[in-house]
Amino acid sequence: MTTVVKMTPMLQQYLEIKGQFEDAILFYRMGDFYEMFFDDAITAAKVLGITLTSRSSKDDENRIPMCGVPFHSASGYLAKLIAAGHRVAICEQTEDPAAAKGIVKREVVRVLSPGVVTDSQVLDDRSNNYICALARPAKAPVYGLSFVDVSTGQCLVGEVEDPSSDGSLVLDQLTRLAPAEILLDEAETETLADLKRAITAMLPGVCFTERHSRCFSPHAATELLHEHFNVVTLDGFGCGALTSGIAAAAVIIEYVGETQKAAINHIEKLTPLDLSSYLQIDDASRRNLELTQTIIGGKREGSLLSVLDQTCTPMGARLLKHNLLFPLQELESIISRLNAVDFLYQHRDIREQLRALLSRIYDIERLNSRIMLGTCNGRDLLALRDSVVSLPDCVALLNRCAGEKFTAIAAAFDPLVDIRALLESAIHPEAPVSLREGNLIREGFNAELDELIRIQRDGRQLILSLEAKEREQSGVPKLKIGFNKVFGYYIEVSRVNLDKVPDHYIRKQTLVNAERFITPELKEFEGKVLGAEERRLELEYHLFCALRSDLAAMSERILATARALAEIDFLCSLAETARNHAYHRPLIDESDVIHIREGRHPVIERGMPTGRFVPNDILLDQEGQEVLIITGPNMAGKSTILRQTALIVLMAQMGSFVPADYARIGIVDRIFTRVGAMDDLRRGQSTFMVEMSETANILNNATSRSLVILDEIGRGTSTYDGLSIAWAVAEELAGKDDKGVKTLFATHYHELIDLALTQERVKNYSVAVREWNDSIIFLHKLIEGGTNKSYGIQVAGLAGVPAHVIQRAEEILKNIEQSEFDREGDPYIARTSKPKRGRRKTHPNQLPLFQPSPDQVREFIQRLSVDDLTPRQAMEALYTLKGLCSLKESN
Ligand code: ADP
Ligand code: MG
Repeated sequence: MTTVVKMTPMLQQYLEIKGQFEDAILFYRMGDFYEMFFDDAITAAKVLGITLTSRSSKDDENRIPMCGVPFHSASGYLAKLIAAGHRVAICEQTEDPAAAKGIVKREVVRVLSPGVVTDSQVLDDRSNNYICALARPAKAPVYGLSFVDVSTGQCLVGEVEDPSSDGSLVLDQLTRLAPAEILLDEAETETLADLKRAITAMLPGVCFTERHSRCFSPHAATELLHEHFNVVTLDGFGCGALTSGIAAAAVIIEYVGETQKAAINHIEKLTPLDLSSYLQIDDASRRNLELTQTIIGGKREGSLLSVLDQTCTPMGARLLKHNLLFPLQELESIISRLNAVDFLYQHRDIREQLRALLSRIYDIERLNSRIMLGTCNGRDLLALRDSVVSLPDCVALLNRCAGEKFTAIAAAFDPLVDIRALLESAIHPEAPVSLREGNLIREGFNAELDELIRIQRDGRQLILSLEAKEREQSGVPKLKIGFNKVFGYYIEVSRVNLDKVPDHYIRKQTLVNAERFITPELKEFEGKVLGAEERRLELEYHLFCALRSDLAAMSERILATARALAEIDFLCSLAETARNHAYHRPLIDESDVIHIREGRHPVIERGMPTGRFVPNDILLDQEGQEVLIITGPNMAGKSTILRQTALIVLMAQMGSFVPADYARIGIVDRIFTRVGAMDDLRRGQSTFMVEMSETANILNNATSRSLVILDEIGRGTSTYDGLSIAWAVAEELAGKDDKGVKTLFATHYHELIDLALTQERVKNYSVAVREWNDSIIFLHKLIEGGTNKSYGIQVAGLAGVPAHVIQRAEEILKNIEQSEFDREGDPYIARTSKPKRGRRKTHPNQLPLFQPSPDQVREFIQRLSVDDLTPRQAMEALYTLKGLCSLKESN
């Protein structure tokens, strides 16, 4: 920062406050503006696109960069700064400038950062906005994680055991909820540097905030939480056994309390996040499957979320997103959700009525937080009023829904009738955004206020009668009563009538043609009217604040209802989507089977005319169909089949119907994907390295209950390297722990077809194409049996590569194919130094692969003079050859 030799007192105050908020941009209130100075001004001017000016400090040589934004439109600018990842400290004038002696007192009243904003201008109402804390106790590899959404009061606490050296497991959990801000222990800056880099690569724009180590001490944490929740044990939240998780939660609660400078009682409980109880899905797979955003562009549109989301409220939309990121693993909970969706699916009338009601309900959850934080305004309370109006009808409909899920929802649902009555009587129907302009409180709510309103309203009438009275008494017919800001009310008498002015008139102002007077009576009247106005504003503000704290005291009920509404909305949305897009209820059990008939890709089918998408069947079991090798040319539809299978499993486990005619899903513990195309360059690793580390992760962590999707692995290296790796990986998955792992393996290495010859659990499939003249037609149909045709050149032709280049390619291909095999005509791939698990004993096609070098056979053939053979001798020669072969094999 520039040092300024002589500073004005204002600047001195500025620098003093700024010193306490070094890492934030300071919004320094001056009259109707927030001003920024020095580096803050330079940064803000750039981000906000506003003019950078300068201000003289004392002497003109040291001019200070500055910029400012008007107070009344500050929220838009704040939103921009926060979206750009900045922290902003808002410094207000804390005393009346008129009453101030010397420089006006100022104080930072709130600090906003990406993780703690509650402003609706900054937040996406269909997503949670999380701040996260990561705690790592010195020894055990157990990370504590906590996520808080300040705008809704949700506080999740969990622990992740991550013995890996690079923290990849904790990274998966940390990025799952895509927090906007992460709090870290400042003492861990170095140990966590790599992790931080990895996080930044996955969550660009995330804001890190370092906190003092003291905040992370588990002991202090427990105390802080006891105090915050006013409890003596955290067992009641199911969090008694957590340590580092508790530390993380406490770090956030303390930080939020500090920055919001307000009671944060709306964070009213801890919700344990037992991360292992959900279907595990790592960060790469979440991206690959485009669950909540597309790979290209990171857009919501085109993701699974966007095709499933038919919610009517922001609360419902957030819950849907959450449930999509945390699919279930427990049979009973899945079935209970499915039953509820099924009911709403069957009962169209109830569903439609519920959705119509939900559409009229605002974001009660976030409204409640603003009430608790004291940042809500009259409009917010009107929105709350308009929302609660629909609640009794919701209850009536809920009572018509059958099933345990609905019973549980109904039990938590409070129609908030008293709140509705309170709001209807209290809030002025045209309440403005501002709290200081009046018109907040309705007439009839408070007797004193009513009286003040009456005085104001009657003021006009009183003036007219006073005017009439003065005219009569003075005999001046044209006497007028007027008002201006300088003198207040006055009586105006034109020059010609000045002689008639009574003695008690007090002269105030002389104009060209008239003079203005006041009287004690007029001033008394003025005092009453103007005083009424002022008192009214003050009183309304106080009544509003009182109302707000009354509502805050009821927040638990409001929140419970908000969450019940979210649940109803979520279930209705799944039912609605199922209806609109011909989804069917999946059969969920604890078997090892995944059986899908006529399955479709939920996103791709939407981009096509109805009926154009070709449905496919998939059967995976732990027997003959454990690892499916899927071959077929580029563009045939391999990746689509892989992804749709993973998506169907995931949807089923979140309780949704699925895009298939029939689906039996044996519950899966983890979904792994390794998808070749579109690699993560941001991570700064080479494509091949990323691919291999993901593959390693799969091999190390997949269990017999996992579903593995491998799309074209081994692409990033030379053909033979790649092929060998692919082969070994598939072999390992088929035999892992003697049970194997359910795997769909799409590959362009058609050599892998031969794997089925040696592995019982491996089966070949291919995606059919039809040859048509020199070209091919994609049928997108999965059929049994592999294909060894890659049709690369035909696909190139379809893509518009010029004909003569295609011709030349065909020529080259022929040359290569001739030399692809060694002189024995043998592929090497299948050879091994040790016996294979699950190898088939005999198979007619197995011979050419595992036969030793056929010297004698070759010799025999070389000696054969083909032209001289009779048909009978030819037959005999064949038998001899056959004999030689079986001799070899039995060796
Ligand atoms: P591959 O992985 O075999 O190269 P993709 O799965 O990427 O092929 O599919 C290529 C394109 O083919 C998709 O973008 C889609 O437009 C179309 N496609 C794939 N599967 C189907 C299907 N079952 N029905 C209709 N079109 C499909
Ligand atoms: Mg593909």
